[in-house]
Amino acid sequence: MAAAARRGKFVVVGGGIAGVTCAEQLSLQFPADLVYLLTAAPLIKAVTNVKQVLRTLEEFDVEEQTSGALQSQYPNIKVVHSAVKELKADEQTLITEDGTQYRYEQLCVCAGARPRLIVEGNPYVLGIRDTDSARTFQQHLARARRVLVVGNGGIALELVYEMESCEVVWAIKDKSIGNAYFDAGAAEFLIPQLKAEKPPPPLTCKRMKYTTDRGAGWEDGRLGSALGPDWHEGMNLRAAHEISRCVHIEAECEVRRVLLHQEFMALNVSASFVHEEGKDSATSDPVEWPVYAELTSGKIFGCDLIVSATGVFPNVEPFVSGNNFTLGEDGGLKVDDHMRTSVRDVYAAGDVCTAGWTPSPHWQQMRLWTQARQMGWYAAKCMAADRLGETIEMDFCFELFAHVTKFFNYKVILLGKYNAQGLGTDHELLLRCTKGREYVKVVMQGGRMMGAVLLGETDLEETFENLILNQMDLSSFREDLLDPNVDIEDYFD
Ligand code: FAD
Repeated sequence: MAAAARRGKFVVVGGGIAGVTCAEQLSLQFPADLVYLLTAAPLIKAVTNVKQVLRTLEEFDVEEQTSGALQSQYPNIKVVHSAVKELKADEQTLITEDGTQYRYEQLCVCAGARPRLIVEGNPYVLGIRDTDSARTFQQHLARARRVLVVGNGGIALELVYEMESCEVVWAIKDKSIGNAYFDAGAAEFLIPQLKAEKPPPPLTCKRMKYTTDRGAGWEDGRLGSALGPDWHEGMNLRAAHEISRCVHIEAECEVRRVLLHQEFMALNVSASFVHEEGKDSATSDPVEWPVYAELTSGKIFGCDLIVSATGVFPNVEPFVSGNNFTLGEDGGLKVDDHMRTSVRDVYAAGDVCTAGWTPSPHWQQMRLWTQARQMGWYAAKCMAADRLGETIEMDFCFELFAHVTKFFNYKVILLGKYNAQGLGTDHELLLRCTKGREYVKVVMQGGRMMGAVLLGETDLEETFENLILNQMDLSSFREDLLDPNVDIEDYFD
């Protein structure tokens, strides 16, 4: 006879930032009710040391913890380490890999996303997502002479800067690096850093505390939680060779196909050569490599390892099959302004979901750590409000996109429509750049500030956040906005 289903008013799937934040908030709001947290990974992610940087921006540390630590802090959370393999939404039931059934009254899916690889099943092509895949990459890198990095997002940017003692060929489909975060001007500002000496690593890791202990029951690395800020700190990303940092950028191209050594030899063609300054010459590459990538530019590069950092796929499969979910264009579970999916009593948050509401003019979804936390928190608030028949306003954090990170050892703050996303041609850019120190870009439309990119220690973030939020007409201040001799903080006080 099948075991009776376990029942919880609330079931949350996923032990990443979104799921853990959602479960914690539900636990606080309903201390007498059981909250199940079902997760495929042996460790969960916890947010600590939250610091409010701006009204719409927080910085925090992230720790991998055992479920015991979470359960002792929130006694009504029960963590179960078993992946969900099926959702029967019409029966409000989830089935995990070990066959146990969980009945919910409200469910929040926070199952994250996984790397989109340029080819699956090739031992030389790696994606980086979680602690396990980062360790596999580190092992391969230790022996590598040349690494090909494909992709132009945050992970590629960090990797290319962090890797040492090997050649790096960086294939990007855009004209300039870091296209998802900034424009060609900012890219130009950053590029010299690829040749500069790197500062020594910090003695202690400031933000991340990742353990590489798999813990009990960890069988499959594919479903681990995503890494996040400073994931590479404390990791040795040095190859074994005495090659000084050499990054060769191949712009406006994609990988057409990946060839193993024998497949390449059978073609009887020559591969492109990369010399130390990072420029390819007419000479073909004399070295033999275990794997080759043919780019759409026609060039073929041999290497020891290909890192595919070309975005992610939301982990929706166990939930959508047999159920009537509406998916976003990027394959995520589409949610409305209450984080509700199209299926009754099923909510979603974090990387697995696609924001399906009409966003504020200065906000856009990006699969980032901060948004995973904001969505997980807000989803719990919405679940509570719906249960109690209360109304709830969209949280203020969705008013303005705000992100702080570090690229090439510069502090990076992105605000609002920092890349003029969706503004058409009807906008203008104001720029201020001091080589090696700071790069400031402001996006203006109709005399109002719509977004900004701040690289370096500019101290402008708070004033700019206010100016974007209050949409003040700045037409008459235009000349002074970026004048380094004008204290604009004082000006707009
Ligand atoms: P995840 O953290 O992926 O968690 C998903 C959880 O769901 C996991 O616990 C997983 O085990 C579980 N799960 C999956 N499927 C199932 C299932 N079927 N059943 C049960 N459990 C399941 N963001 C930034 O803001 N700044 C950065 O600098 C940054 N750098 C990054 C660097 C790397 C290398 C990577 C990979 C990501 C980076 N990100 C960064 C993105 C950020 O890490 C993610 O946006 C964020 O962690 C997503 O959180 P999440 O809770 O939605 O998903």
